Amino acid sequence: MALGTPRADPTDPDIRELLAARAHLTMHALDGLMLESVPLNAIADAVGTPVWIYGAATMRQRYRTLARALADAGLEITLHYALKANDHLAVIRVFVAEGAGADVVSEGELRRARLAGVPSSQIVFSGVGKSEHELRLALAMEVGQINVESAEELHILSSVAAGAGRIARVALRINPDVDAETHTKISTGRMHDKFGIPWNDIAGLYRHAASLPGIKPVGLAMHIGSQIMTLAPFRAAYARLADVARHVRAEGHSVEVVDCGGGLGVPYRNEPFVSPAGLAGALHAAFAGLDVRLQLEPGRWLVAGAGLLVSSVLMVKHVSNGMRFVVLDAAMNDLLRPTLYNAWHGIVPLSAADAVAPAIQTDVVGPVCESGDTFARSRLLPPLVRNARVAILDVGAYGSVMSSTYNARPLAPAVLVDGERWSLIRSRQRHEALWQDEHVPESLA
Ligand SMILES: *Cc1c(COP(=O)(O)O)cnc(C)c1O
Repeated sequence: MALGTPRADPTDPDIRELLAARAHLTMHALDGLMLESVPLNAIADAVGTPVWIYGAATMRQRYRTLARALADAGLEITLHYALKANDHLAVIRVFVAEGAGADVVSEGELRRARLAGVPSSQIVFSGVGKSEHELRLALAMEVGQINVESAEELHILSSVAAGAGRIARVALRINPDVDAETHTKISTGRMHDKFGIPWNDIAGLYRHAASLPGIKPVGLAMHIGSQIMTLAPFRAAYARLADVARHVRAEGHSVEVVDCGGGLGVPYRNEPFVSPAGLAGALHAAFAGLDVRLQLEPGRWLVAGAGLLVSSVLMVKHVSNGMRFVVLDAAMNDLLRPTLYNAWHGIVPLSAADAVAPAIQTDVVGPVCESGDTFARSRLLPPLVRNARVAILDVGAYGSVMSSTYNARPLAPAVLVDGERWSLIRSRQRHEALWQDEHVPESLA
């Protein structure tokens, strides 16, 4: 190996360890890698690659695990699935059937939630910048709650609501100034982050909100970030939230609801993580005596582990310095997380024989014209050959929703497995769809 070539990280879980920690994935001697009861090769044969594949039973089970842990702690709490993690209509349907509400951050997500059958009353509209049009639409749809992130937004909402003759049920989003100890691009609860209202300004703004036309302040909201792997940030933030709620009440205002946001992290690398029971304990410690209706907005935790990106090896490129590049037909335009956050995702061959072959150090890349189009650096993987297939693990959250068509690559199709059945939930985008809304000026025609 040439000097300066990065070395494989010996602490990485290997293929066996990745599969052992993921009960929804099994390696079958003949059929290869299966999600729930479906061989992934059967889907790839029928639909082609790259393809996103999600497990409905896995999502359902995760929802129930979380709901049960919260109920076991004696908490009265409603779950609002954060659509931005994965907004396929079929995925939303899985959670609607479990009784979930939705957390939405745009007109598109609001419309998706309604289309998938989320009752308006169970929709929370979040986000740091909602347009007047979006606020008007949310009021016309009678969404259950609008989480307001600034005095400016409160005033805009007041004038829109009063003009439409409606009353907006508002929660003020506090910025608790707590470091979620996660990647800086997904941390949202520090004072210099753009989100929320500084916690010591909340009581004054709540008082003001109660005096504004068209506004009914019903509670407080918070979301300190995503992919949080320890309880400490949750505990600190919940304690501050509970303090602010008590303070607002002491001033004579009613606080019916406290929305605790999302943020529960998942073990991409088999690392220790916060269990639902642990989170439930933290919620109980902060809010048990407060007599409020609690809300939680989980996104990643419900869907990340349930999703795979199945891709084929286009070629294996050997370079004279000893480096070995496995070039996949999936790319950063499909899965952006490694490029954007340096995210680590497990990679597992679909073939059982490939999975047990001796591992060698490999870079796994996509075909897009950017060096950042790299899924894994110096990873110990079996010697995959041309046309071998691999699954990139734990991509159910912030995966396909972040896809682009960079390099004029159409959006990959998506499949939902449910036990022994599977169905296409989004077709592969047609190339014509890439330019169907474009116009060439007559002078250039
Ligand atoms: C993104 C987001 C969530 C979901 O976060 P996860 O880390 O995916 O659980 C919840 N609430 C708000 C306001 C968000 O912006």
